[in-house]
Amino acid sequence: MKNIPEINHCIPNPRAYWCPFCKAHNTYDFDGESYFCNACYGAWPSIPGSSTSMIRPGQQLRWKPVFIVVTGLLFLVGVSLGLEDLYRTGGNWNYSTFFGIAVMLVGFGVFSGFCAWAIHHNLKQWSAWASAQRRKSPEELRQEALDHPFQPEYDNSEDFTEWAEQFLSSEEVEQLHEKYGESEDGEKREARIVLRVEGESQEPPPPAPGE
Ligand SMILES: [Zn+2]
Repeated sequence: MKNIPEINHCIPNPRAYWCPFCKAHNTYDFDGESYFCNACYGAWPSIPGSSTSMIRPGQQLRWKPVFIVVTGLLFLVGVSLGLEDLYRTGGNWNYSTFFGIAVMLVGFGVFSGFCAWAIHHNLKQWSAWASAQRRKSPEELRQEALDHPFQPEYDNSEDFTEWAEQFLSSEEVEQLHEKYGESEDGEKREARIVLRVEGESQEPPPPAPGE
């Protein structure tokens, strides 16, 4: 059993990590800094300055105005400082600390503007996808998830738990672990039972659910 029918990775969820290349809420690898899609590992054409990792649209939406305002302020202050300095020196390109600061501010402004643009680009892709998905029926979405080239697979890992908790409550995720974690193969089941006995009490393990 590989596919997780409880979670449809083709249904838009702005709070969940989304891969702009695969156009799905794929499972990921978290390297401590970035979230890499398990299907393409960030192979989608990257925008320099932005990461190739997955994005969380809800989060990007909040950051967009911040970057726009910061970009505007940096340019405004940087350019006016620079012009003032040029005016003061009568147009002689005398390098001054003042002018250096102005150039630096504009430089940060360019970087910040780039981030704003990357966020804008990501969100545009996201909203196009999300609105197309919202026009589909539940049955169409289910079929699309099944036909998708990437299928989220059950994995007894923290990354998987974190991924699943984007869509389900922690109790529901615990049920996923019970369901898939123990029925994968005998070895794993035994290992988990041993762990459980050691971790909790000397109670006998519960009988495996008959399938
Ligand atoms: Zn991907």
